[in-house]
Amino acid sequence: MSTFPSMQGLLNHSSSLNASSFRAARFCIARKFSSTAAREKQRVVILGSGWGGYGLLRGIDKKRYDVVVISPTTYFNFTPLLASTAVGTLEFRTAIEPVRRYVPAAVYYQAWCDNIDFSRKTLTCMPATRPITREASDPTKVDDPNYRASANIPFTARYDKLIIAVGAYSQTFNIPGVKEHAYFLKDVKDARRIRSRILECFEQANQPVISDVERRNLLNFCVVGGGPTGVEFAAELHDLLQTDVRTHYPDLARFTNITLYDVADSILSSFDQSLVKYTEKMFSREGVHILTNHHVERVEAGKLFIREKGEVPFGLLVWSTGLAPNPLVSAMSGVKKNPKTQSVITNDQLNVIMQETNEPNPDVWAIGDAATFEEAPLPATAQVASQKAHYMITKLNTLAKDKDHCEPFEFHNQGSLAYIGNWNAIYDRSSTLPEGEKDKFMSKETGRVAWLLWRSAYFTMTLSWRNKILVPTYWFLNWMFGRDMTRF
Ligand code: FAD
Repeated sequence: MSTFPSMQGLLNHSSSLNASSFRAARFCIARKFSSTAAREKQRVVILGSGWGGYGLLRGIDKKRYDVVVISPTTYFNFTPLLASTAVGTLEFRTAIEPVRRYVPAAVYYQAWCDNIDFSRKTLTCMPATRPITREASDPTKVDDPNYRASANIPFTARYDKLIIAVGAYSQTFNIPGVKEHAYFLKDVKDARRIRSRILECFEQANQPVISDVERRNLLNFCVVGGGPTGVEFAAELHDLLQTDVRTHYPDLARFTNITLYDVADSILSSFDQSLVKYTEKMFSREGVHILTNHHVERVEAGKLFIREKGEVPFGLLVWSTGLAPNPLVSAMSGVKKNPKTQSVITNDQLNVIMQETNEPNPDVWAIGDAATFEEAPLPATAQVASQKAHYMITKLNTLAKDKDHCEPFEFHNQGSLAYIGNWNAIYDRSSTLPEGEKDKFMSKETGRVAWLLWRSAYFTMTLSWRNKILVPTYWFLNWMFGRDMTRF
């Protein structure tokens, strides 16, 4: 196929191209059979390049499998560092790893998987690049499946073994205006938008023509959702306001305000109560307001409507109220799903359970936020996704040697960490310990000790040597010279 020379041998037309309707063209990624090949290599398709998908891509034996990754993002997001990049404590590059690092050992397509046919073992995918056809292209609509279908060329991919690691989306509870006016923090692109908006708020507030009331409104930063992501973002933003904002916008610092809203009666519900109290005390001392039992009813441009408080003007609203199912998973039929979260149910070896037979599918696995167990579900965290990816590496690499690996997946909880600002953090391992040992040495830590644990944990977990050098370098540079406050 002349148009895709680099894919020769991997791509094979499943149906001939219809010249009059190029949009409807379909390609089938099918391995070229070699008559001399002693043993057919199986095609493993990994959907997603997050903690689950990228983790598996790193370790899977690419000599024994044809590995194909299909993901709309060309990189892996190191999510625990996103809040730091959103305020400039770290640069964006430090929180991502490129998928193409593993090419040509693996094949990568920047595409969405829109449908899985489990009986035919095929996937319908849509390029996540801008439309190749000359039809109207609107990059702002690229997340809308109807738009993608109308403006791009779908292709079909075949798999022998499939790993679904498509993660989840941000939950909005269908509250009107959230999607349009709030910022989410799931991807480095979101972090970039947030950073740009924060700096824009300051530049707008700095205009000579506006009143102090307008300044106060613009510099009112609201965070909805008191989970670890919301808390860490509020903490990082607080650090920015207390340091570089005071240097670069000395007249505006007094107008700034951060409020964290949550509908529940407490923040950080997964942490031990003593650590929650500690965080609340620290936030209150540092001037970060926590308003629990507050219900957001709707959002308009620059305005939040709260049942208990009325209208609240804001310059930036960051929304982090948990997870909503990935549309691929919501639309997926034939597999058993958790009725509440819509995540795919797997057995203890991570195979998806087929609805009709109630039996595990031997060639399809689901990991990460898109998957759950029927009984005793695990939290939707990077820790779980990454451990499941490691389990899959062992499983698939063992299967490739014609041996079976039947050990069930076992989660080893390493505890939870959250940064809470001003070089303080909280660390909780107590929930992993049996009753009576919950107050054991180092089971809960706060302050600088926990902060050191937080930084060392994420430095250790950083995947590439490049980022192992860049992360501490930026920590040091920004501590020494301050954050980069340039708005692009
Ligand atoms: P993701 O990492 O979200 O990856 C999903 C992948 O699938 C992405 O590459 C996406 O582009 C791709 N995809 C989506 N749809 C499709 C499709 N239709 N077809 C193909 N590919 C698709 N957890 C912790 O344990 N510790 C932390 O400190 C921590 N901090 C966090 C901070 C933030 C800001 C956020 C947002 C999350 C944090 N988490 C943390 C949670 C953790 O990031 C998630 O649990 C983890 O990312 C889940 O991994 P995953 O592979 O399932 O999904």
